[in-house]
Amino acid sequence: MKFLILGDGAREHSIAKKLCESPKTDEIFICPGNAGTFYEKKCHNIEFIDENTLLNFAEKNSIDLTIVGPEKFLCEGIVDEFEKNNLKIIGPNKKSSILEGSKIFSKNFMKKYKISTADYEEFNNFEDAFNFLNNINFPIVIKVDGLAAGKGVFICDNYKQSVKVLEDIMKNKCFGESGNKIIIERYLSGFEASFFVLLDEKNYKLFNYSKDHKKIGEGEKGLNTGGMGSITPHPNIDENLKIKVEDLIIKPTINGLKAENLMYKGILFFGILFENNIPYLLEYNVRFGDPETQSLLNLLDSDLVDIFNDIYNNNVENTHLKWKQGISMGLVLTAFGYPLEYKKNIEILKKSDDCDFIYYSSKISEEKAFSSGGRVLTLVDNCKNIDTLRNNLYSIAKLYNKEFYFRKDI
Ligand code: AMP
Repeated sequence: MKFLILGDGAREHSIAKKLCESPKTDEIFICPGNAGTFYEKKCHNIEFIDENTLLNFAEKNSIDLTIVGPEKFLCEGIVDEFEKNNLKIIGPNKKSSILEGSKIFSKNFMKKYKISTADYEEFNNFEDAFNFLNNINFPIVIKVDGLAAGKGVFICDNYKQSVKVLEDIMKNKCFGESGNKIIIERYLSGFEASFFVLLDEKNYKLFNYSKDHKKIGEGEKGLNTGGMGSITPHPNIDENLKIKVEDLIIKPTINGLKAENLMYKGILFFGILFENNIPYLLEYNVRFGDPETQSLLNLLDSDLVDIFNDIYNNNVENTHLKWKQGISMGLVLTAFGYPLEYKKNIEILKKSDDCDFIYYSSKISEEKAFSSGGRVLTLVDNCKNIDTLRNNLYSIAKLYNKEFYFRKDI
């Protein structure tokens, strides 16, 4: 089969790497790809020009299936365009992408279909939101409605901080149109988990669940990032919690998606926070997450080509999922300073063969790899024993002490 993958991150590199392992994969084109996909044997990086050029490319090169990484393409309707042109693609259309594209839509959907989530109020003007602050207890969580590249959520400990956040979003328009509406949500305290579900137009199948480390500092302190590491399966999720998530969140979501005609072929992610052992849904993503994909696909023992074909053919119910024994881990290496100011164009050297090197946005110049963003690499491996796994990955990470930052407590 010939695949086209859209995106330039570590998630897309992971997907490409896993597809490459299958004897059923002949070639993968990845737009724009990165230094990691450049090195993969069956992969060809192609330049992104515009959507029309992509459509023509898929048609001319007889692409069998297109996989979309980033949410922006999905929310802009890339799936609708491919489908109009009879090109095979996995992912939600524009209508279904609203589950991720609008926090207000998704919270109202959760409420309508009795999906466990934190109480909230929505606001479309500064004054009403400001007045609401007079009668509540802190901390609270303020979220912009639209897409904000993972930066539109603020945990506010007090009144003063909340007013400043509201002003930045609704008066100073720091998030542009995405901040025209907001929600204010009850603060939950507990641990988080990422649940992934394979979806088609008829059914769903639970894929796996991961632990994601969002904060830059050890002990979950400091600024939010795109993710500093992941572990699959999540060590705190037992059978009992898994059943609660299916009953209180996944099953009612599927009922709602069916009732609203929002079912789609692809991946549905549930960002969940457990407070007192009760799962609350924070958000949906309509695609694979990063860095969870790196540890998820590393642990997967089934052929990803078969899984994608089952999704495309509305056969997820019968998809055979096999996982390697044990646990997998992804450790993210970033430029110093990330997520604030950081240096770009740092040379990325592969200093070991003892784990997978999954690359973030990066370029090849004169046969060397250079970083383009804040996150640079995910080191990924799996093992039956978590301590051995950690020791291995940290001994490799230490070789990069001078070039890159990484958390010591993943
Ligand atoms: P979201 O984009 O809604 O998933 O929020 C991003 C991150 O903010 C989550 O992964 C949590 O760490 C945190 N967060 C969001 N909502 C809440 C909440 N109601 N209570 C506590 N933390 C939250």
